[in-house]
Amino acid sequence: MSALLKNDLAKPYQTVARGKGVWLWDTEGRDYIDGSSGAMTANIGHGVEEIADAMAAQAREVAFAFTAQFTNAPAEELARRLTALAPGDLDHVFFVNSGSEASEHAMRLALQVWRERGRPGKTRFISRQRSYHGMTMGALSMSGHDGRRGDFGDYLHAFPEVPPAYAFRSDWGDLPEEEQGAVAVAEWETAILAAGGADKVAAVIAEPIVGAAGGALVPPPGYFTALREICDRHDVLLIADEVITGMGRTGSWFASGFEGIVPDILNTAKGLSAGYTPMGAVILRAPLVETIRQGSGLAPYGHTFSGNPLSAAICLAVLDYMETHDVLGNVAARAAEMEAGLKALQQRYAHVADVRGRGLLWGFEFVMDRQGKTPPPAEFNATGTFVDLCWEEGLVVYPAGIKPLNNACLISPPLVITADELTELLTRMDRALAKMETRLL
Ligand code: PLP
Repeated sequence: MSALLKNDLAKPYQTVARGKGVWLWDTEGRDYIDGSSGAMTANIGHGVEEIADAMAAQAREVAFAFTAQFTNAPAEELARRLTALAPGDLDHVFFVNSGSEASEHAMRLALQVWRERGRPGKTRFISRQRSYHGMTMGALSMSGHDGRRGDFGDYLHAFPEVPPAYAFRSDWGDLPEEEQGAVAVAEWETAILAAGGADKVAAVIAEPIVGAAGGALVPPPGYFTALREICDRHDVLLIADEVITGMGRTGSWFASGFEGIVPDILNTAKGLSAGYTPMGAVILRAPLVETIRQGSGLAPYGHTFSGNPLSAAICLAVLDYMETHDVLGNVAARAAEMEAGLKALQQRYAHVADVRGRGLLWGFEFVMDRQGKTPPPAEFNATGTFVDLCWEEGLVVYPAGIKPLNNACLISPPLVITADELTELLTRMDRALAKMETRLL
């Protein structure tokens, strides 16, 4: 009899005992390579002493002061450093405690900004069919993840969804690469117009690379430049959900920067604290803040723990660690090895298709044979089966398959992984793929 309500009531969970770097150990002494950084979160690895020290030092000074009553130095400093790293004039930050709260907050801010600009009819949000923006009701309303929407259908807003930028399963994936972006993005404009255009649509939301809801779906070049242009033309705000891709995961601080575009709102969480505390951030462009400053002057959405000094000090220590240890340099070096290693496995195993990714965010999917794109039968549950086989080998990977295919997997180890550890990760995966093959034959 257990008091803790777990995600899967039928599953026997191992109990984690400790972690160091990319390694985790359970209470029975088994080791695991954290090949997914948990949920793409433990970016600087486990058990980093500097973070524990910073935590203790801040806790002794002041752990909590309510930000509606006091500001605090760590939160002010973290906001300064984040806005310096974020692209363009994304120059104000509101702190929250999770990626879901960041999505909720971005929605409220978009609604407030349009209201304060005298356009209260702009209330619709558009997202993508394969996307995940969080579990709370607003965030889930914007998420194209059928499994997670589950039975909440009637309680969620019925916002329009557009197809994802999913070259492998699109009708534009065979076009020359330079033509793909414009074709893939066109559905956004159609959806904006169908939803009432500039008069009705408040914002669109997209992950620069889709993570949990598809397994590292990388858009074709030009896609986000074209989406930015569509949003500008129709007076619609662009929200970049960088909860996974932010804070170095794809090789630069924020993935929005790859095409040089500046979203109106940029959300980040997960890697911001690298798992050492719950933390999320909503970063806003200057004109949005100016609207509020000249209007109500209030951004009244705080949560009790928003921007608390303890969490902010932990995130500052994570940033310090990343800069001192040139973690982005390590991502660049390991990314090439990861791509080569996964593609070598794809050569060996005919059931592995479409290895895709950037930085240390990689995905692939299972198919029935090398020639085709047919996924394994839904009842086979390719994603769940492979996650379990990796677990048997002491490798943690993230299940990124969603209905109806349920065949994708995400590999996203801590950004500090060494070359030897990456080789060990790929070796364990090789063994899991060999077992997977016998199941799929
Ligand atoms: N946005 C994206 C892109 C995510 O992947 C997630 C979680 O996986 C969220 C938002 C929600 O974040 P959280 O689980 O911290 O609420």
